[in-house]
Amino acid sequence: MYIPELSNYSYSTRQAEEQFSVGWLSEDHEFTTGHVNPMVVSRLKELPIVNKYRGFHICPYCEDKPAMGNGEIHVIDADGRKFVAPTMIIHYIEAHNYKPPNIFLQAVMGEPTEDVDVENEVKEAMARTMAERVDSAICGRSNKY
Ligand SMILES: [Zn+2]
Repeated sequence: MYIPELSNYSYSTRQAEEQFSVGWLSEDHEFTTGHVNPMVVSRLKELPIVNKYRGFHICPYCEDKPAMGNGEIHVIDADGRKFVAPTMIIHYIEAHNYKPPNIFLQAVMGEPTEDVDVENEVKEAMARTMAERVDSAICGRSNKY
């Protein structure tokens, strides 16, 4: 299941809390790649898995024997923001060079996020999603004629 990066956590029905989705990738959407501090990965592995039986996620990028994950990892930063990632995020980082948004990486490392322009990061992530939507809308239209 694909959820745009840093969008409000869409599994949840509670809108009041600030919750951001990270790492809900799917094959028809591009993702950011780059080097991720190995400490981030080992910390992610230490975090408890929650909502374990909500369904399986199958890696869309593995060619044979795709990796599978079932559950979520929740990361809460110093300001109380909650990030919700599938357990598969560890596999995406390790096997497919995925680089989550900086604000998430900092939250995992327990670094203060006061210097991070959250609104800007969210805005950028939203802009990328909007651009994708426009692209697919254009494709949709050209298919019609
Ligand atoms: Zn994979």
